[in-house]
Amino acid sequence: MSELLKNTLQIISRISQSKCGYLVRIDNSDFDVISVWGENKEKFQPLNNSLLKLKKSSEVEFNFVKELPELKNLFTEISINTFFIQEVHSFRERNESVYILLFSEMAEAFNEECKDRIISVLTILSGHVKELLHVVDHDVDKTTGDNENLQVTSEGNGFLSEWEDNFKGLLEVATDLVFILDKSGNIVLVNEAGILTLEYTLDEIKGKHFLEFVNVDFNNSASEAFEEAIKTKNVTRFETILVSKYDRQLAYEISIRLISKNGKVSGMLGTGKNIGKLKHFEKEIRKLKPKIVEANRLIKLERARTKKHESLVEELNRLKSEFISNISHEFRTPLASIIGFSETIESDPDLPPEMKKEFNNIILNEGKRLAKLIKSVLDISKIEGGKISLNRSTVNVVDLLLNVIEMNKEFAGQKNIDLNFEHPSDEVTLEADKDKLSGVFEALISNAIKFTNEYGRVKIITNNLYREVEIIVSDTGIGIPEKDLPYIFQKFYRVSRPGSEIPGTGVGLVFVKQMVDLHKGLITVQSEAGSGTSFILKLPKNLKIEKSEVTS
Ligand code: ADP
Repeated sequence: MSELLKNTLQIISRISQSKCGYLVRIDNSDFDVISVWGENKEKFQPLNNSLLKLKKSSEVEFNFVKELPELKNLFTEISINTFFIQEVHSFRERNESVYILLFSEMAEAFNEECKDRIISVLTILSGHVKELLHVVDHDVDKTTGDNENLQVTSEGNGFLSEWEDNFKGLLEVATDLVFILDKSGNIVLVNEAGILTLEYTLDEIKGKHFLEFVNVDFNNSASEAFEEAIKTKNVTRFETILVSKYDRQLAYEISIRLISKNGKVSGMLGTGKNIGKLKHFEKEIRKLKPKIVEANRLIKLERARTKKHESLVEELNRLKSEFISNISHEFRTPLASIIGFSETIESDPDLPPEMKKEFNNIILNEGKRLAKLIKSVLDISKIEGGKISLNRSTVNVVDLLLNVIEMNKEFAGQKNIDLNFEHPSDEVTLEADKDKLSGVFEALISNAIKFTNEYGRVKIITNNLYREVEIIVSDTGIGIPEKDLPYIFQKFYRVSRPGSEIPGTGVGLVFVKQMVDLHKGLITVQSEAGSGTSFILKLPKNLKIEKSEVTS
Protein backbone atom coordinates (compact mmCIF):
# COMPACT_ATOMS: atom_id res chain seq x y z
CA MET A 1 0.00 0.00 0.00
CA SER A 2 1.20 3.48 -0.79
CA GLU A 3 3.25 5.15 1.91
CA LEU A 4 1.24 8.29 1.46
CA LEU A 5 -2.00 6.42 2.00
CA LYS A 6 -0.58 4.87 5.14
CA ASN A 7 0.57 8.24 6.39
CA THR A 8 -2.76 9.79 5.66
CA LEU A 9 -4.58 7.08 7.59
CA GLN A 10 -2.22 7.57 10.48
CA ILE A 11 -2.87 11.29 10.45
CA ILE A 12 -6.59 10.64 10.48
CA SER A 13 -6.38 8.29 13.44
CA ARG A 14 -4.16 10.76 15.25
CA ILE A 15 -6.47 13.71 14.82
CA SER A 16 -9.50 11.65 15.69
CA GLN A 17 -7.62 9.89 18.46
CA SER A 18 -9.29 6.75 17.25
CA LYS A 19 -8.07 3.38 18.42
CA CYS A 20 -8.39 1.75 15.06
CA GLY A 21 -9.97 2.13 11.68
CA TYR A 22 -11.11 0.46 8.49
CA LEU A 23 -10.98 1.52 4.90
CA VAL A 24 -13.69 -0.43 3.15
CA ARG A 25 -14.67 -0.53 -0.50
CA ILE A 26 -18.25 -1.53 -1.09
CA ASP A 27 -20.13 -2.00 -4.33
CA ASN A 28 -23.35 -3.70 -5.28
CA SER A 29 -21.94 -7.14 -5.37
CA ASP A 30 -18.80 -7.06 -3.34
CA PHE A 31 -16.78 -5.50 -0.61
CA ASP A 32 -13.06 -5.23 0.14
CA VAL A 33 -11.32 -4.22 3.30
CA ILE A 34 -8.56 -2.12 1.79
CA SER A 35 -6.83 -1.47 5.06
CA VAL A 36 -7.17 -2.10 8.77
CA TRP A 37 -5.01 -0.33 11.30
CA GLY A 38 -4.93 0.34 15.00
CA GLU A 39 -4.22 -1.30 18.28
CA ASN A 40 -6.70 -4.13 18.31
CA LYS A 41 -6.79 -5.31 14.75
CA GLU A 42 -7.40 -8.95 15.64
CA LYS A 43 -10.39 -8.00 17.75
CA PHE A 44 -12.03 -6.64 14.63
CA GLN A 45 -11.96 -9.97 12.88
CA PRO A 46 -15.65 -10.58 13.68
CA LEU A 47 -16.45 -7.22 12.16
CA ASN A 48 -14.66 -8.26 8.99
CA ASN A 49 -16.88 -11.27 8.80
CA SER A 50 -19.86 -9.12 9.40
CA LEU A 51 -18.80 -6.73 6.67
CA LEU A 52 -18.50 -9.69 4.32
CA LYS A 53 -22.20 -10.18 4.75
CA LEU A 54 -22.77 -6.81 3.18
CA LYS A 55 -21.71 -8.19 -0.18
CA LYS A 56 -25.08 -8.10 -1.73
CA SER A 57 -26.52 -5.02 -0.14
CA SER A 58 -27.11 -2.15 -2.51
CA GLU A 59 -26.29 0.63 -0.10
CA VAL A 60 -24.49 0.87 3.16
CA GLU A 61 -26.41 2.95 5.60
CA PHE A 62 -24.79 4.50 8.55
CA ASN A 63 -27.40 3.03 10.83
CA PHE A 64 -27.03 -0.32 9.23
CA VAL A 65 -23.36 -0.51 10.16
CA LYS A 66 -24.17 0.73 13.59
CA GLU A 67 -26.63 -2.08 14.08
CA LEU A 68 -24.20 -4.77 13.13
CA PRO A 69 -24.16 -7.21 16.10
CA GLU A 70 -20.38 -7.60 15.88
CA LEU A 71 -19.97 -3.93 16.28
CA LYS A 72 -22.26 -3.85 19.23
CA ASN A 73 -20.12 -6.53 20.84
CA LEU A 74 -17.05 -4.58 20.09
CA PHE A 75 -18.40 -1.61 21.90
CA THR A 76 -18.50 -3.59 25.10
CA GLU A 77 -15.47 -5.79 24.50
CA ILE A 78 -12.79 -3.24 23.80
CA SER A 79 -14.45 -0.24 25.26
CA ILE A 80 -15.39 1.43 21.99
CA ASN A 81 -17.58 4.36 22.83
CA THR A 82 -18.09 5.92 19.49
CA PHE A 83 -17.47 5.42 15.83
CA PHE A 84 -17.38 7.42 12.66
CA ILE A 85 -18.26 6.44 9.13
CA GLN A 86 -17.80 8.61 6.09
CA GLU A 87 -17.60 8.12 2.36
CA VAL A 88 -14.04 8.75 1.19
CA HIS A 89 -14.48 8.30 -2.51
CA SER A 90 -17.12 7.05 -4.86
CA PHE A 91 -16.37 5.54 -8.24
CA ARG A 92 -19.56 6.51 -10.01
CA GLU A 93 -18.65 4.68 -13.21
CA ARG A 94 -18.25 1.45 -11.24
CA ASN A 95 -21.00 2.17 -8.79
CA GLU A 96 -18.82 1.61 -5.78
CA SER A 97 -17.71 3.67 -2.80
CA VAL A 98 -14.89 3.63 -0.28
CA TYR A 99 -15.76 4.30 3.33
CA ILE A 100 -13.67 4.98 6.33
CA LEU A 101 -14.68 3.61 9.70
CA LEU A 102 -13.02 4.92 12.80
CA PHE A 103 -13.41 3.66 16.33
CA SER A 104 -12.59 5.50 19.45
CA GLU A 105 -13.02 4.97 23.13
CA MET A 106 -13.41 8.66 23.81
CA ALA A 107 -17.01 9.74 23.97
CA GLU A 108 -16.23 13.13 22.37
CA ALA A 109 -13.78 11.83 19.78
CA PHE A 110 -15.99 12.64 16.82
CA ASN A 111 -17.44 15.96 17.81
CA GLU A 112 -18.10 18.58 15.12
CA GLU A 113 -14.68 20.13 15.27
CA CYS A 114 -12.95 16.78 15.06
CA LYS A 115 -15.20 15.67 12.21
CA ASP A 116 -14.29 18.82 10.30
CA ARG A 117 -10.63 18.08 10.72
CA ILE A 118 -11.03 14.51 9.58
CA ILE A 119 -13.10 15.56 6.59
CA SER A 120 -10.47 18.02 5.46
CA VAL A 121 -7.87 15.24 5.40
CA LEU A 122 -10.28 12.94 3.61
CA THR A 123 -9.75 15.03 0.46
CA ILE A 124 -6.16 13.87 0.44
CA LEU A 125 -7.14 10.35 1.38
CA SER A 126 -9.68 10.29 -1.41
CA GLY A 127 -6.91 11.13 -3.92
CA HIS A 128 -4.76 8.29 -2.66
CA VAL A 129 -7.63 5.82 -2.63
CA LYS A 130 -8.58 6.80 -6.14
CA GLU A 131 -5.03 6.34 -7.41
CA LEU A 132 -4.69 3.04 -5.59
CA LEU A 133 -7.94 1.54 -6.79
CA HIS A 134 -7.45 2.65 -10.37
CA VAL A 135 -4.10 0.93 -10.42
CA VAL A 136 -5.64 -2.15 -8.85
CA ASP A 137 -8.28 -2.12 -11.55
CA HIS A 138 -5.99 -1.77 -14.48
CA ASP A 139 -2.73 -3.40 -13.54
CA VAL A 140 -3.51 -6.05 -11.02
CA ASP A 141 -6.08 -8.76 -10.93
CA LYS A 142 -9.09 -7.43 -9.21
CA THR A 143 -9.12 -8.80 -5.70
CA THR A 144 -12.23 -10.34 -4.36
CA GLY A 145 -13.52 -10.29 -0.82
CA ASP A 146 -10.41 -12.04 0.41
CA ASN A 147 -9.11 -9.69 2.95
CA GLU A 148 -5.68 -11.32 3.21
CA ASN A 149 -5.18 -11.12 -0.52
CA LEU A 150 -6.04 -7.49 -0.57
CA GLN A 151 -3.63 -6.71 2.22
CA VAL A 152 -0.80 -8.40 0.37
CA THR A 153 -1.65 -6.69 -2.88
CA SER A 154 -1.99 -3.28 -1.36
CA GLU A 155 1.35 -3.57 0.41
CA GLY A 156 3.08 -4.46 -2.84
CA ASN A 157 5.19 -2.11 -4.95
CA GLY A 158 4.05 -0.22 -7.99
CA PHE A 159 0.95 1.38 -6.64
CA LEU A 160 2.36 4.83 -6.37
CA SER A 161 1.24 6.92 -9.23
CA GLU A 162 3.84 8.94 -11.08
CA TRP A 163 2.24 12.07 -9.71
CA GLU A 164 2.53 10.88 -6.13
CA ASP A 165 6.11 9.86 -6.70
CA ASN A 166 6.94 13.27 -8.08
CA PHE A 167 5.07 15.02 -5.32
CA LYS A 168 6.82 12.98 -2.67
CA GLY A 169 10.16 13.63 -4.38
CA LEU A 170 9.38 17.30 -4.51
CA LEU A 171 8.69 17.38 -0.79
CA GLU A 172 11.98 15.59 -0.17
CA VAL A 173 14.08 17.91 -2.27
CA ALA A 174 12.39 21.06 -1.04
CA THR A 175 14.76 22.87 1.30
CA ASP A 176 12.00 25.23 2.33
CA LEU A 177 9.17 24.37 4.64
CA VAL A 178 6.21 22.74 2.87
CA PHE A 179 3.01 21.92 4.72
CA ILE A 180 -0.64 21.05 4.39
CA LEU A 181 -3.19 22.20 6.93
CA ASP A 182 -6.74 21.07 7.37
CA LYS A 183 -9.51 23.58 7.22
CA SER A 184 -9.17 24.29 10.94
CA GLY A 185 -5.49 25.07 10.55
CA ASN A 186 -4.14 21.83 11.99
CA ILE A 187 -1.01 20.42 10.44
CA VAL A 188 -1.69 17.45 8.21
CA LEU A 189 1.61 17.13 6.47
CA VAL A 190 5.06 18.70 6.77
CA ASN A 191 8.10 17.92 4.65
CA GLU A 192 11.34 16.58 6.07
CA ALA A 193 13.33 19.83 5.73
CA GLY A 194 10.58 21.76 7.48
CA ILE A 195 10.50 19.30 10.36
CA LEU A 196 14.27 19.47 10.71
CA THR A 197 14.36 23.26 10.93
CA LEU A 198 11.62 23.25 13.49
CA GLU A 199 13.54 20.56 15.42
CA TYR A 200 10.46 18.40 15.96
CA THR A 201 9.67 14.91 14.81
CA LEU A 202 6.88 14.33 12.36
CA ASP A 203 4.68 12.83 15.08
CA GLU A 204 5.18 15.81 17.34
CA ILE A 205 4.03 18.16 14.66
CA LYS A 206 1.17 16.39 12.95
CA GLY A 207 -2.30 17.26 14.11
CA LYS A 208 -1.13 20.31 16.00
CA HIS A 209 -2.48 23.68 15.09
CA PHE A 210 -0.19 25.78 12.89
CA LEU A 211 -0.41 28.73 15.31
CA GLU A 212 1.15 26.59 18.05
CA PHE A 213 4.43 26.98 16.17
CA VAL A 214 4.06 30.72 15.71
CA ASN A 215 5.55 33.16 18.22
CA VAL A 216 2.62 34.52 20.30
CA ASP A 217 3.34 38.08 19.26
CA PHE A 218 2.75 37.08 15.65
CA ASN A 219 -0.40 35.01 16.22
CA ASN A 220 -2.74 37.83 15.27
CA SER A 221 -0.97 38.75 12.07
CA ALA A 222 -0.78 35.06 11.07
CA SER A 223 -4.51 34.57 11.75
CA GLU A 224 -5.29 37.66 9.68
CA ALA A 225 -3.23 36.25 6.81
CA PHE A 226 -5.17 32.97 6.98
CA GLU A 227 -8.47 34.85 6.93
CA GLU A 228 -7.22 36.84 3.95
CA ALA A 229 -6.25 33.63 2.11
CA ILE A 230 -9.72 32.16 2.73
CA LYS A 231 -11.44 35.37 1.68
CA THR A 232 -9.46 36.08 -1.48
CA LYS A 233 -8.65 32.47 -2.46
CA ASN A 234 -5.32 33.90 -3.68
CA VAL A 235 -1.81 33.05 -2.61
CA THR A 236 -1.26 35.07 0.54
CA ARG A 237 2.17 35.89 1.88
CA PHE A 238 3.12 36.99 5.34
CA GLU A 239 6.19 37.21 7.49
CA THR A 240 6.20 35.56 10.87
CA ILE A 241 8.36 34.07 13.57
CA LEU A 242 8.16 30.32 14.02
CA VAL A 243 9.34 28.84 17.29
CA SER A 244 11.37 25.65 17.17
CA LYS A 245 11.11 22.89 19.77
CA TYR A 246 14.16 24.34 21.55
CA ASP A 247 12.73 27.82 21.47
CA ARG A 248 14.73 29.14 18.56
CA GLN A 249 12.93 32.08 16.95
CA LEU A 250 12.97 31.59 13.19
CA ALA A 251 11.97 34.33 10.79
CA TYR A 252 9.87 32.88 7.98
CA GLU A 253 8.06 34.19 4.94
CA ILE A 254 4.98 31.99 4.61
CA SER A 255 2.91 31.61 1.45
CA ILE A 256 -0.47 29.92 1.77
CA ARG A 257 -3.28 28.98 -0.57
CA LEU A 258 -6.67 27.54 0.06
CA ILE A 259 -7.59 23.99 -0.96
CA SER A 260 -11.26 23.70 -1.70
CA LYS A 261 -13.41 21.00 -3.12
CA ASN A 262 -16.81 21.63 -4.64
CA GLY A 263 -16.69 25.14 -3.25
CA LYS A 264 -16.03 23.88 0.26
CA VAL A 265 -12.84 24.77 2.11
CA SER A 266 -10.94 21.62 2.83
CA GLY A 267 -7.56 22.93 3.93
CA MET A 268 -4.56 25.01 3.20
CA LEU A 269 -1.34 24.45 1.23
CA GLY A 270 1.68 26.33 2.39
CA THR A 271 5.39 26.90 1.98
CA GLY A 272 7.74 28.78 4.23
CA LYS A 273 11.05 30.40 3.37
CA ASN A 274 13.53 30.92 6.17
CA ILE A 275 14.35 34.61 5.94
CA GLY A 276 16.50 34.73 9.06
CA LYS A 277 19.62 35.60 7.08
CA LEU A 278 17.72 38.12 5.00
CA LYS A 279 16.39 39.74 8.17
CA HIS A 280 19.90 39.77 9.59
CA PHE A 281 21.23 41.52 6.49
CA GLU A 282 18.28 43.89 6.50
CA LYS A 283 19.10 44.76 10.10
CA GLU A 284 22.75 45.25 9.22
CA ILE A 285 21.79 47.44 6.26
CA ARG A 286 19.42 49.43 8.47
CA LYS A 287 22.27 49.91 10.94
CA LEU A 288 24.63 50.89 8.14
CA LYS A 289 22.22 53.28 6.45
CA PRO A 290 22.63 56.23 8.82
CA LYS A 291 26.37 55.64 8.73
CA ILE A 292 26.34 55.80 4.93
CA VAL A 293 24.20 58.93 5.02
CA GLU A 294 26.59 60.47 7.50
CA ALA A 295 29.62 59.44 5.45
CA ASN A 296 28.06 60.96 2.35
CA ARG A 297 27.32 64.14 4.24
CA LEU A 298 30.92 64.30 5.45
CA ILE A 299 32.23 63.69 1.95
CA LYS A 300 29.94 66.43 0.67
CA LEU A 301 31.11 68.78 3.41
CA GLU A 302 34.72 67.92 2.74
CA ARG A 303 34.21 68.53 -0.97
CA ALA A 304 32.49 71.84 -0.31
CA ARG A 305 35.29 72.80 2.07
CA THR A 306 37.97 71.92 -0.44
CA LYS A 307 36.06 73.83 -3.10
CA LYS A 308 35.59 76.77 -0.77
CA HIS A 309 39.23 76.62 0.13
CA GLU A 310 40.14 76.55 -3.53
CA SER A 311 37.82 79.43 -4.30
CA LEU A 312 39.19 81.36 -1.33
CA VAL A 313 42.72 80.85 -2.58
CA GLU A 314 41.60 81.74 -6.11
CA GLU A 315 39.81 84.82 -4.81
CA LEU A 316 42.85 85.90 -2.85
CA ASN A 317 45.09 85.38 -5.87
CA ARG A 318 42.72 87.37 -8.04
CA LEU A 319 42.54 90.18 -5.49
CA LYS A 320 46.33 90.16 -5.15
CA SER A 321 46.91 90.49 -8.88
CA GLU A 322 44.24 93.19 -9.04
CA PHE A 323 45.98 94.92 -6.16
CA ILE A 324 49.34 94.77 -7.90
CA SER A 325 47.90 96.24 -11.07
CA ASN A 326 46.02 98.91 -9.08
CA ILE A 327 48.94 99.81 -6.91
CA SER A 328 51.25 99.98 -9.95
CA HIS A 329 48.74 102.36 -11.48
CA GLU A 330 48.52 104.35 -8.25
CA PHE A 331 52.31 104.53 -8.08
CA ARG A 332 52.70 105.28 -11.75
CA THR A 333 50.39 108.33 -11.79
CA PRO A 334 52.24 110.44 -9.20
CA LEU A 335 55.56 109.14 -10.50
CA ALA A 336 54.66 110.21 -14.02
CA SER A 337 53.86 113.75 -12.77
CA ILE A 338 57.03 113.87 -10.69
CA ILE A 339 59.18 112.68 -13.57
CA GLY A 340 57.32 114.82 -16.15
CA PHE A 341 57.51 118.08 -14.16
CA SER A 342 61.14 117.50 -13.06
CA GLU A 343 62.16 116.87 -16.68
CA THR A 344 60.39 120.07 -17.78
CA ILE A 345 62.20 122.13 -15.13
CA GLU A 346 65.48 120.43 -16.06
CA SER A 347 65.12 120.82 -19.83
CA ASP A 348 63.91 124.40 -19.82
CA PRO A 349 66.27 126.71 -17.94
CA ASP A 350 64.20 129.71 -19.10
CA LEU A 351 61.09 128.57 -17.28
CA PRO A 352 59.53 131.47 -15.45
CA PRO A 353 60.11 131.23 -11.67
CA GLU A 354 56.33 131.19 -10.89
CA MET A 355 55.87 128.20 -13.16
CA LYS A 356 58.91 126.52 -11.70
CA LYS A 357 57.44 127.08 -8.24
CA GLU A 358 54.09 125.64 -9.31
CA PHE A 359 55.74 122.60 -10.86
CA ASN A 360 57.86 122.08 -7.77
CA ASN A 361 54.71 122.24 -5.72
CA ILE A 362 53.09 119.54 -7.85
CA ILE A 363 56.21 117.38 -7.53
CA LEU A 364 56.12 117.83 -3.76
CA ASN A 365 52.40 116.93 -3.47
CA GLU A 366 52.71 113.92 -5.75
CA GLY A 367 55.75 112.78 -3.78
CA LYS A 368 53.76 113.10 -0.56
CA ARG A 369 50.88 111.13 -2.09
CA LEU A 370 53.29 108.41 -3.09
CA ALA A 371 54.82 108.31 0.37
CA LYS A 372 51.36 108.08 1.94
CA LEU A 373 50.43 105.19 -0.32
CA ILE A 374 53.60 103.31 0.43
CA LYS A 375 53.06 103.94 4.13
CA SER A 376 49.53 102.55 4.16
CA VAL A 377 50.65 99.41 2.30
CA LEU A 378 53.52 98.97 4.73
CA ASP A 379 51.23 99.62 7.69
CA ILE A 380 48.89 96.83 6.62
CA SER A 381 51.69 94.31 6.35
CA LYS A 382 53.08 95.49 9.67
CA ILE A 383 49.72 95.08 11.39
CA GLU A 384 49.28 91.67 9.84
CA GLY A 385 52.70 90.66 11.08
CA GLY A 386 51.69 91.90 14.54
CA LYS A 387 54.51 94.42 14.39
CA ILE A 388 52.50 97.56 14.99
CA SER A 389 51.85 99.05 18.37
CA LEU A 390 49.95 102.14 19.42
CA ASN A 391 51.79 105.21 20.47
CA ARG A 392 49.11 106.53 22.78
CA SER A 393 48.58 110.06 23.94
CA THR A 394 45.65 112.33 24.71
CA VAL A 395 44.35 113.44 21.36
CA ASN A 396 42.09 116.39 20.72
CA VAL A 397 39.71 114.88 18.21
CA VAL A 398 38.29 118.15 16.88
CA ASP A 399 41.75 119.59 16.27
CA LEU A 400 42.89 116.42 14.55
CA LEU A 401 39.82 116.37 12.31
CA LEU A 402 40.21 120.09 11.47
CA ASN A 403 43.75 119.32 10.37
CA VAL A 404 42.71 116.45 8.08
CA ILE A 405 39.80 118.49 6.66
CA GLU A 406 42.24 121.28 5.90
CA MET A 407 44.46 118.82 4.02
CA ASN A 408 41.48 117.70 1.91
CA LYS A 409 40.01 121.13 1.27
CA GLU A 410 41.77 121.55 -2.03
CA PHE A 411 40.68 118.14 -3.26
CA ALA A 412 37.07 118.95 -2.29
CA GLY A 413 37.31 122.38 -3.86
CA GLN A 414 38.41 120.85 -7.18
CA LYS A 415 35.07 119.04 -7.26
CA ASN A 416 33.09 121.90 -5.74
CA ILE A 417 32.21 119.71 -2.87
CA ASP A 418 30.88 121.35 0.26
CA LEU A 419 33.08 120.09 3.10
CA ASN A 420 31.26 120.62 6.35
CA PHE A 421 32.31 119.96 9.96
CA GLU A 422 29.93 119.85 12.92
CA HIS A 423 31.43 119.51 16.39
CA PRO A 424 30.74 120.35 20.01
CA SER A 425 32.18 123.59 21.28
CA ASP A 426 33.87 121.99 24.28
CA GLU A 427 37.02 119.99 24.02
CA VAL A 428 36.71 116.38 22.88
CA THR A 429 39.66 114.19 23.74
CA LEU A 430 40.52 110.54 23.73
CA GLU A 431 43.42 108.22 24.39
CA ALA A 432 44.78 107.27 20.97
CA ASP A 433 47.67 107.06 18.59
CA LYS A 434 47.47 110.47 16.96
CA ASP A 435 49.17 109.56 13.64
CA LYS A 436 47.15 106.42 13.16
CA LEU A 437 43.92 108.17 14.02
CA SER A 438 44.83 110.90 11.57
CA GLY A 439 45.34 108.17 8.94
CA VAL A 440 41.88 106.80 9.70
CA PHE A 441 40.20 110.23 9.35
CA GLU A 442 42.19 110.89 6.19
CA ALA A 443 41.12 107.61 4.58
CA LEU A 444 37.44 108.16 5.41
CA ILE A 445 37.31 111.82 4.40
CA SER A 446 39.33 111.40 1.18
CA ASN A 447 37.14 108.43 0.22
CA ALA A 448 34.02 110.50 0.87
CA ILE A 449 35.32 113.23 -1.47
CA LYS A 450 36.61 110.68 -4.01
CA PHE A 451 33.28 108.88 -4.27
CA THR A 452 31.13 112.02 -4.33
CA ASN A 453 30.32 113.74 -7.58
CA GLU A 454 30.80 117.47 -8.21
CA TYR A 455 28.66 119.85 -6.14
CA GLY A 456 28.00 117.18 -3.62
CA ARG A 457 28.43 117.46 0.14
CA VAL A 458 30.66 115.76 2.67
CA LYS A 459 29.77 116.23 6.31
CA ILE A 460 31.87 115.31 9.33
CA ILE A 461 30.14 115.18 12.70
CA THR A 462 31.69 114.66 16.09
CA ASN A 463 29.58 113.67 19.08
CA ASN A 464 30.98 113.67 22.55
CA LEU A 465 29.32 110.74 24.30
CA TYR A 466 29.75 109.58 27.88
CA ARG A 467 32.52 107.06 27.40
CA GLU A 468 33.19 107.30 23.73
CA VAL A 469 33.55 109.71 20.90
CA GLU A 470 31.44 109.27 17.82
CA ILE A 471 32.71 110.49 14.45
CA ILE A 472 30.44 110.32 11.41
CA VAL A 473 31.78 110.85 7.91
CA SER A 474 28.79 111.21 5.63
CA ASP A 475 28.59 112.02 1.94
CA THR A 476 26.02 112.48 -0.79
CA GLY A 477 28.12 110.40 -3.20
CA ILE A 478 27.63 107.36 -5.39
CA GLY A 479 27.04 105.01 -2.44
CA ILE A 480 27.89 101.33 -2.03
CA PRO A 481 25.60 98.60 -3.38
CA GLU A 482 24.13 96.41 -0.63
CA LYS A 483 25.78 93.25 -1.95
CA ASP A 484 29.25 94.84 -1.59
CA LEU A 485 28.74 96.19 1.92
CA PRO A 486 29.90 93.04 3.79
CA TYR A 487 33.19 93.00 1.90
CA ILE A 488 34.43 96.60 1.85
CA PHE A 489 36.69 96.11 4.89
CA GLN A 490 38.36 93.10 3.25
CA LYS A 491 41.86 93.39 1.91
CA PHE A 492 42.07 94.58 -1.72
CA TYR A 493 38.29 94.59 -2.08
CA ARG A 494 37.01 97.24 -4.42
CA VAL A 495 33.47 97.82 -5.53
CA SER A 496 33.33 97.10 -9.20
CA ARG A 497 31.66 99.93 -11.11
CA PRO A 498 31.99 99.06 -14.77
CA GLY A 499 32.24 102.14 -16.97
CA SER A 500 32.93 104.55 -14.11
CA GLU A 501 35.93 102.98 -12.42
CA ILE A 502 37.49 105.20 -9.74
CA PRO A 503 41.18 104.45 -9.12
CA GLY A 504 42.09 102.89 -5.81
CA THR A 505 43.92 99.99 -4.16
CA GLY A 506 41.37 98.49 -1.79
CA VAL A 507 43.61 98.95 1.25
CA GLY A 508 42.27 102.21 2.71
CA LEU A 509 39.35 100.68 4.61
CA VAL A 510 41.46 97.70 5.66
CA PHE A 511 43.80 100.09 7.39
CA VAL A 512 40.82 101.94 8.92
CA LYS A 513 39.31 98.76 10.30
CA GLN A 514 42.61 97.50 11.68
CA MET A 515 43.28 100.79 13.42
CA VAL A 516 39.77 100.99 14.86
CA ASP A 517 40.18 97.45 16.18
CA LEU A 518 43.52 98.34 17.76
CA HIS A 519 41.81 101.28 19.47
CA LYS A 520 39.02 98.90 20.64
CA GLY A 521 36.54 100.94 18.67
CA LEU A 522 33.75 100.08 16.31
CA ILE A 523 33.11 101.10 12.73
CA THR A 524 29.85 100.61 10.85
CA VAL A 525 28.63 101.72 7.48
CA GLN A 526 25.26 102.71 6.10
CA SER A 527 24.97 103.22 2.40
CA GLU A 528 22.67 103.07 -0.53
CA ALA A 529 23.81 102.98 -4.12
CA GLY A 530 23.28 106.42 -5.69
CA SER A 531 22.36 108.30 -2.51
CA GLY A 532 25.47 108.43 -0.38
CA THR A 533 27.39 106.77 2.40
CA SER A 534 27.87 107.26 6.14
CA PHE A 535 30.71 105.71 8.12
CA ILE A 536 30.03 105.76 11.85
CA LEU A 537 33.08 105.45 14.00
CA LYS A 538 32.96 104.96 17.77
CA LEU A 539 36.15 105.15 19.78
CA PRO A 540 36.46 104.68 23.53
CA LYS A 541 37.78 107.73 25.32
CA ASN A 542 39.88 105.67 27.67
CA LEU A 543 41.31 102.43 26.37
CA LYS A 544 41.87 100.99 29.84
CA ILE A 545 38.32 101.56 31.03
CA GLU A 546 36.95 100.06 27.85
CA LYS A 547 39.23 97.07 28.17
CA SER A 548 38.19 96.34 31.76
CA GLU A 549 34.57 96.73 30.76
CA VAL A 550 34.97 94.23 28.01
CA THR A 551 36.51 91.65 30.30
CA SER A 552 34.07 92.15 33.16
P1 ADP B 1 40.07 102.25 -2.46
O1 ADP B 1 41.50 102.40 -2.49
O2 ADP B 1 39.51 101.50 -3.63
O3 ADP B 1 39.29 103.45 -2.14
P2 ADP B 1 39.13 101.43 0.12
O4 ADP B 1 39.54 100.29 0.98
O5 ADP B 1 39.36 102.78 0.67
O6 ADP B 1 39.81 101.22 -1.28
O7 ADP B 1 37.60 101.26 -0.18
C1 ADP B 1 37.12 100.05 -0.61
C2 ADP B 1 35.95 100.25 -1.53
O8 ADP B 1 34.85 100.81 -0.78
C3 ADP B 1 36.20 101.25 -2.60
O9 ADP B 1 36.61 100.57 -3.79
C4 ADP B 1 34.87 101.93 -2.81
O10 ADP B 1 34.19 101.35 -3.86
C5 ADP B 1 34.11 101.72 -1.53
N1 ADP B 1 34.00 102.98 -0.75
C6 ADP B 1 34.75 103.37 0.30
N2 ADP B 1 34.30 104.57 0.78
C7 ADP B 1 33.25 104.91 0.02
C8 ADP B 1 32.36 106.05 -0.01
N3 ADP B 1 32.44 107.03 0.87
N4 ADP B 1 31.40 106.07 -0.96
C9 ADP B 1 31.29 105.09 -1.86
N5 ADP B 1 32.09 104.00 -1.88
C10 ADP B 1 33.07 103.93 -0.97
